[in-house]
Amino acid sequence: MKQIDKIRALLDEIETEIGSLDDQAFTENFNSLELPDLICSVVDFLQPSLYPYEAAVYWHLFRQSILASGTQYTRTSVRSMMQGVITSSSGQSNGLSYGAVQKALQGLEGKRAISKPGDTNREGTLYKIHLPEEIPSCQELMKQAQELESVQIDPKKEFDFYNVRENRIKVFGRDEYKCHYCGKQLTRFTATLDHIQPVSEGGDNSYDNLVTACLHCNSQRGSRPVMDIIVEKNSQHVSSADTKKPHR
Ligand SMILES: [Zn+2]
Repeated sequence: MKQIDKIRALLDEIETEIGSLDDQAFTENFNSLELPDLICSVVDFLQPSLYPYEAAVYWHLFRQSILASGTQYTRTSVRSMMQGVITSSSGQSNGLSYGAVQKALQGLEGKRAISKPGDTNREGTLYKIHLPEEIPSCQELMKQAQELESVQIDPKKEFDFYNVRENRIKVFGRDEYKCHYCGKQLTRFTATLDHIQPVSEGGDNSYDNLVTACLHCNSQRGSRPVMDIIVEKNSQHVSSADTKKPHR
């Protein structure tokens, strides 16, 4: 029982660490020059699956989070979204009813377009705005679009898939924005590229030599099993004096 609690605590710790790494990576990598591409993918892949009020609320939250602060988070309340987001189609009032906003938020949550990662306080509820590559209903559509595009990839003409931004996105798309090593769902702003054959060993920047990796797996330089990480963290806890790192 005690051991299980310990393992659970360690897993929580790793999860939190990885989560905050992702948030940091998003903020650092978010680039307003990439907004046109991001907005296109919301319109193309997410919006067709939304009801009108859901779309209005999503764009409102998008504006309050990603556009306002360069993070995927914003705190807001149902009441504050009743005015100034969109006009009710019933024509009975300028804004939306409490129930209409609530229904739109629940709809977006059900479609995994947003989530509530935190608590509710006096300023409202903390919402996380998801990008199309993180949203299940978009993933299939994005995969189809990617398959059409990958036919057009000429590995000889487009050689550098590491440094050329439009090419990086093609590798992420091929891997469905999931980490090659741990399977974690990433976004265009948190995904990194890892060389299968390292550059130091003669590996190149070709399409076939690159895989999508999360920051954590990439910084661990490859595919270390989760148990290794747990064992390592555990040994750090048990004896912090022992600074020996396990060799691979
Ligand atoms: Zn990973």
